[in-house]
Amino acid sequence: MSNILDFIQDIPPKPLKLLNSLGVYTYWDALLHIPLRYDDLTKLSHVSHNLINDKILIEGTIISSELVSRTAKPQLHLKLDTNTKIINIIFFHFYPNYITKYPVGAKVRAFAKLSQDKLGNMSMLHPKLTLVVDDISPLSNELTPIYSTTEGLSQDIIKKVIVTALRQNIVDTLSPEFINTHQLLSLDECFKLIHTPTAKQYNSGEIALALKRLKFDEILAQQLVMYRTFKANRVKFTKNLVPASNYTNALLKLVDFQLTTAQKRVFSEISQDICSGYQMNRLLQGDVGSGKTIVAILAMLLVIENNRQACLIAPTEILAKQHYDKLTQLVVSLGIKVIWLSGSLTSKQKSIAKEAIATEPHSIIIGTHAVLQRDVVFNNLGLVIVDEQHKFGVEQRLEIMHKGSEIHLLMMSATPIPRSLAMSYYAELNVSTIDELPKGRQKITTVLVNNNRRQEALDFAAKAIQNSRQVYWVCPLIEESEKLNLENATRLYDELTSIFGANTVGLVHGKLTAKVKDMVMQDFIAAKVKILVATSVVEVGVDVANASIMIIEHSERIGLSQLHQLRGRVGRGHQQSHCILLYQPPLGLVARRRLNTIYKHTDGFIIANEDLLIRGPGEFLGARQSGLPKFKFVSLETDMQLLLVAKGVAKEFYNLNSLAAKEHVKRWFYNKDDYYKI
Ligand code: ADP
Ligand code: MG
Repeated sequence: MSNILDFIQDIPPKPLKLLNSLGVYTYWDALLHIPLRYDDLTKLSHVSHNLINDKILIEGTIISSELVSRTAKPQLHLKLDTNTKIINIIFFHFYPNYITKYPVGAKVRAFAKLSQDKLGNMSMLHPKLTLVVDDISPLSNELTPIYSTTEGLSQDIIKKVIVTALRQNIVDTLSPEFINTHQLLSLDECFKLIHTPTAKQYNSGEIALALKRLKFDEILAQQLVMYRTFKANRVKFTKNLVPASNYTNALLKLVDFQLTTAQKRVFSEISQDICSGYQMNRLLQGDVGSGKTIVAILAMLLVIENNRQACLIAPTEILAKQHYDKLTQLVVSLGIKVIWLSGSLTSKQKSIAKEAIATEPHSIIIGTHAVLQRDVVFNNLGLVIVDEQHKFGVEQRLEIMHKGSEIHLLMMSATPIPRSLAMSYYAELNVSTIDELPKGRQKITTVLVNNNRRQEALDFAAKAIQNSRQVYWVCPLIEESEKLNLENATRLYDELTSIFGANTVGLVHGKLTAKVKDMVMQDFIAAKVKILVATSVVEVGVDVANASIMIIEHSERIGLSQLHQLRGRVGRGHQQSHCILLYQPPLGLVARRRLNTIYKHTDGFIIANEDLLIRGPGEFLGARQSGLPKFKFVSLETDMQLLLVAKGVAKEFYNLNSLAAKEHVKRWFYNKDDYYKI
């Protein structure tokens, strides 16, 4: 008896090649080639009117056989006497031997859909015919599986291979106890059920159980790989950081709020990780406005108290500067030095900043990716925090690691990754989630406004300004054209200044110098500017509590997570906030679905899940996706429960039963080389 992973040998080269083209190389692959559907040839039916249009198996005697040539190609017409009815059997295509194989007088069984014409004549088109020899051909006990195939490869060949595969030595990688505890089927049972179910098993839904076992095994295999990667990549540090709370406690006294339970929990996860002796590689996710920044500051203070430097980088200058300003206010009284470095500094300012970074111990460095440049040398850097990490690429993360020998990494994201994705693809990362907003936040009201009722948005903005509120008015980023973006934003700016006056309206976009951008932002923060026209540069992170109205142009063009991010710019203070989504009809299906979602939901995780459904995991993960295998059976959208179980047991399975775990992974990924190696 051979191994399940052996390559299929006992069929001729030509069909073998065709099988390979279906992805079937080994007996294991064959077993995973599950039927598209099943035909029921287990019982004979008596022809009757209520079976019209059903696929049935009938038996009868051929009473006539005739070649009919209405066109160039002859048809084969048989008449079958079933005792109750005469059935016309018609073949447009047939092998020449049919004529001799099914002669008049022969007893046959036919399986196909039964049809009836207007005159009441019943017929079957292209039925599956079998000869009944000596009245004793037994009926099959099992349903007949129908497999997906390719031209030139018959069902019979596929079946033959699968039957051989079923006879191989299918060692179960899961122990009987495990199978029992988790109410799974054994692998043997599973494949028997899938490939040779009885009608009873099929009707009682047992095949779903078999599929569940396959899904479980597949996701477990993936989780095992992830766990192994995690273990292999875990970097042990030589210099241990120790728990410390002088600075963090002092900071918590300085802010005018209490941490939420979720903030406390994630900070405790982070500090444990930092002090574990291993490198931290953690993703902190939390919805917009959930208060990630304070957690980041606490983490930095913990590192500072350990006499190391900490660095916070943000994707845009506006956001980095905002962090710098807020942080400086907070920690200066603790006697901690905060150093600012961005691309827009003069070269003199830059060299002063670099000098400080290279010499000042236990300081905090804040900036854009400029801090990752080669000539920036740190002094005992212990922690890097990347805000809005999805805006950074993998290369930048690698650059960070070159800034010192033992650096903890904390990535923050407000674009929630749906939990199922985070858990299956980020297993080598630890994930901390803030799943609670600070108390007292008002729900943002969202309205959808057809662009031809634009005046209503203008009126709304006018009224808001009268009540000393502030407004963001955003033009979406059009990927293809930077020029168009600018034109759109400028046009809108002109429109609004002509209505509200030049002093009331500000404009920020990507093409402005950092200095001008900063000036406009400062004016907005100081409430000199009431309406801020912006391209999506305000998308990430910007926090101006008095701005409570977000108006978005052409919201039908914007992706869900971006809409959610933009809306998250408001709702930060105590007043009721509003988000007005202007749209230009007609709406396509996807746009409709997106707008509907953003209208109905404010929870970023629900929105992210919907985004996952709309875009699929590949799109969602962007650059990360390359090299990731597609699941054959599992769907991350619907198999969350199994994923949870698999994730929960992968570690123990790997550590306690490493041989079985290896075999398990090998079965599922033997042909996915890259994946198997990582
Ligand atoms: P994000 O998670 O989107 O980065 P921020 O860290 O910018 O959110 O926080 C949003 C606002 O909420 C900030 O003004 C911050 O000071 C405030 N904040 C943070 N934590 C709390 C809390 N526990 N209670 C009240 N307000 C808080
Ligand atoms: Mg933020």
